[in-house]
Amino acid sequence: MITFKELGLQENILTAIEAMGFVTPSPIQEKAIPQILTSDQDVIALAQTGTGKTAAFGLPILNNLDSSSQSVQAIVLCPTRELCLQIAKELESFSANMKGVRIQAVYGGADISKQIKGLKDNPQIVVGTPGRTMDLIKRKALKIHDITWTVLDEADEMLNMGFRDEIDSILETTPEEKQTLLFSATMPSEVRRIASEYMHNPIEIAVSKVNTASKNIEHQVFLVRASDRYLALKRLADYYPNIYGIVFCRTRREAKEVADKLMQDGYNADALHGDLSQSQRDHVMEKFRNQNIQILVATDVAARGIDVNELTHVINYNLPDDPEVYVHRSGRTGRAGNKGISIIISNNREGRKIKELERIISSKIEQKNVPSGQEICE
Ligand code: ADP
Ligand code: MG
Repeated sequence: MITFKELGLQENILTAIEAMGFVTPSPIQEKAIPQILTSDQDVIALAQTGTGKTAAFGLPILNNLDSSSQSVQAIVLCPTRELCLQIAKELESFSANMKGVRIQAVYGGADISKQIKGLKDNPQIVVGTPGRTMDLIKRKALKIHDITWTVLDEADEMLNMGFRDEIDSILETTPEEKQTLLFSATMPSEVRRIASEYMHNPIEIAVSKVNTASKNIEHQVFLVRASDRYLALKRLADYYPNIYGIVFCRTRREAKEVADKLMQDGYNADALHGDLSQSQRDHVMEKFRNQNIQILVATDVAARGIDVNELTHVINYNLPDDPEVYVHRSGRTGRAGNKGISIIISNNREGRKIKELERIISSKIEQKNVPSGQEICE
């Protein structure tokens, strides 16, 4: 098996990732890191959530960065504020043993003057949502003349969220000779368009779909009447008193309702959805990260890309229409060698969808009965 050292990374990065517990590179890292380290050719990388994309672009950029320079050299664009903070934090860990590397996160819904002040500290890497990044470029608070790398992280999701114009402007205004690195789970036509308009002769790297079967995930389905879904959830929470997981709901309203009920019933739960203010979302995420909340009830959009390690369970309060959504959801458990359980609360009428899912994840979904009161007490 190949090591990070063999990929060509410098010593002070190797010691930092070793301290983070990284032993071997993931497939996307194995392909992307040497490519980006040794060539300034544009890169399109296709990989699902949870495959280690942050390190795939972050490590080679840090390795080749001029840390003595006062200019912004890399802009990393990503879809949400939570992801900005998460990526910035991860890059900080990667560069813990490097001198003089500064990283600044910029995103909407937060005080812009603070971010402008942060940019005056001359970070070499800026991680931002497209809207706020463009705003700061327009205000000349973010200077782009020395940009060497532009990363589009979760490009498909950024376009889904309507950041098309901002992404276009950023790619147009930053220096032509930069290296553009596009990471995406899927390649819809809008992503293809960005690639063909703004990237030069890109090399395409793909890793095969996350095979949830190989990911140490146990898939289970509990068949209940629709009206009993909440009861089933409660029983499961009782059955797994040390649960640390996400309950996925279809709508903001449902997420709020389920979380409210759980809290009323004395469970350590909270909700994460788009109706909350940014500071409320931050607060909930911080509590969940610190494991002060055991059960996070969330919508797919709110939970997208959030990387909280060591989730014991992912619970599908309902089966998503799109099987890929199930793959994304369940990918949040069983990460980095930890065993995880992905649970679907469903009903008799969804048998065909379950079969279809089994085919897609190439794994069996075990049908289970909701634990009885007695089993819970045992
Ligand atoms: P993605 O962006 O593809 O969703 P991330 O970059 O967020 O994935 O990585 C997912 C998790 O796996 C993070 O907690 C990260 O620290 C961890 N990770 C990434 N690469 C490795 C590795 N080579 N070894 C161990 N853990 C890793
Ligand atoms: Mg990512």
